[in-house]
Order: sequence, then structure tokens, then C-alpha cells
Amino acid sequence: MFDNLSEKLDKALHVLKGHGQITEINVAETLKEVRRALLDADVNFKIAKSFTNRVKEKALGENVLTTLQPGQLMVKIVKDELTELMGGDAAGVNLSGNPSVILMSGLQGSGKTTFSGKLANYLKNKKTKKPLLVACDVYRPAAINQLHVVGEQIGVEVYSEEGNQDPVAIAKNAVAHAKKNGCNVVIVDTAGRLAVDEQMMTEIANIHKAISPEETLFVVDSMTGQDAVNTAKAFNDVLNFDGVILTKLDGDTRGGAAISIKSVVDKPIKFIGTGEKMEAIDVFYPSRMADRILG
Ligand code: GDP
Repeated sequence: MFDNLSEKLDKALHVLKGHGQITEINVAETLKEVRRALLDADVNFKIAKSFTNRVKEKALGENVLTTLQPGQLMVKIVKDELTELMGGDAAGVNLSGNPSVILMSGLQGSGKTTFSGKLANYLKNKKTKKPLLVACDVYRPAAINQLHVVGEQIGVEVYSEEGNQDPVAIAKNAVAHAKKNGCNVVIVDTAGRLAVDEQMMTEIANIHKAISPEETLFVVDSMTGQDAVNTAKAFNDVLNFDGVILTKLDGDTRGGAAISIKSVVDKPIKFIGTGEKMEAIDVFYPSRMADRILG
């Protein structure tokens, strides 16, 4: 995960980590390389710039030039800032409702249906949760089918209404069905499109209004780099969502989305998807991710 970024940051910090003399000049040089590494990983220019400025301020504040182990201190400062940038503490999902309603949003192909299954499976394994999956993509019968296949695989009921073209009504009916049948979590999978468009946004906003979810999650493919951040912004403007799910982190992603999203929409990344299988779900811990990136 993020091998390229790890390698470049390691290289950038190498001089300071070594035993060479630490000077203001090579601190500046190092930060320039850190910035370049972030930009190469698809981190937005402004974010990369303010990141290195903060690291510089901290480094000067902590007198990095005069400490005994300046290299280690610099690595620590960069790691702390990276953790902060990705969200600080891990954020859980709100499951206080009965049932707790979780609405999935995102573009087509981002991994919504797969993640809906993963989350249902994850919660089901917690024993106290009985999830219901809801298929609200009325445009693509294949998507409804896909959710049924997933549900069968993990042993979770899937609610769908054949012939009903009104996703708002389906979502409402599903919540009523959950109440009647003792399901305490309702995960609503919705229709996405290939790009942000008004109809999709209006539809998801209407579903959101109708079922007042405890959690609205935005699912995004981390492979889409800076686009992931732009899409997040567009969905957040409409839904004011609660958290982000970053999928496909097992692929050849450069990491920019994971690093940038929190600072652009100010919403935490809650889970990551690390494969196609139902078990490939992890709670997102910013500090663990920073540890991973900085080796
Ligand atoms: P949706 O259109 O948003 O519902 O997206 P899908 O759930 O159908 O996912 C689109 C494709 O991405 C499918 O082939 C999934 O198997 C794949 N996929 C989803 N999540 C992940 C992930 O975390 N890692 C990998 N490698 N593939 C994923």
C-alpha cells in the first residue's frame, strides 16, 4: 500500500535520518522533497504546501537543529502531521438508532454494493447486530442481483421491490420492514452514476430526507486520485455526509485520496476496502496508516 510514497518519503528523510550534519539548508531541502513526494502521490498542491509549512514550523519550534537526534525528531513530526491530516483519531459509526439506518452514496463502480455487503458482514459478526441490506438502484437490475448474491454469501437478508421504480418509497418500506422483523441495522445501497449529475444528487438527497439516516457514508475509489477528492466535495455539498469509505486500497493507488480527503471535506475516513472479498474491510486508523507510510 502506497509503496511509491513510502519510498519517496523515506528517501526525502534519509539525509536527516543519517549522520550527516543537519543544517537549515538540508531541512529546507528535505521538506522540498517531502512536498514533491506528496504531489507525486496525488495530494493537492495547497494541502502539500501547508503540510510542509506546518512541519517546518514545528521543526523550528522544537529546535530540530540542536537536538541530539534530529532525524528521528523530523520523522516523528512528519508522522504526527500525516496522522493529523488523515483525521487524527479513528472514527466509529453511529449505531444508536433502532434500527440504525446507514445510507451509502457514491459513484457507480466506487464499490458501494461490495462495501454494503462487507459492512453488513462486519456488523453481523459483532453478534448484537442483525443487518438488513436494501437495494435501491432501480435502474440496474444487475445491481439488485449483485446485492442479493452478496446477501446470500454472508447470510444477510436483502430487501428489494421488483417493479417499484421509486427508490425513496423502497427505502422507507425497507426501514418499516426492518422494524417489523427485528433488524437493528439497515444498510441502504443506492444508485450511482459514472460522474456527478443532478438527477443522482436529487435522488440521493430525497432518500436521505425520507429516512433520516444515523450515518450517511460516501464511498470512493481511492484509485481515482484527485478526482476522489472532487467527488467527495460534490457529495458532501449535497448530503453533508458523516464519513468516507475509501475502497480499493489494495490496488496500485498512490495514496493522495487518503491523505487529502479529510482536509477538503472535514469528514473522517471511517473504513477502508482492501479487496473484493467480504472480509476485506478495515477500520481506518490514521496513525497506523501514517506508520505504514513512513515505515
Ligand atoms: P458500485 O457500483 O459502487 O456498487 O461498485 P461495486 O461494489 O459493484 O464494485 C465495483 C468493482 O470494484 C467490483 O468489481 C468490485 O469487486 C470491486 N471492488 C470493490 N471494492 C473493492 C476493493 O476494496 N478492492 C478491490 N480490489 N476491488 C474492489
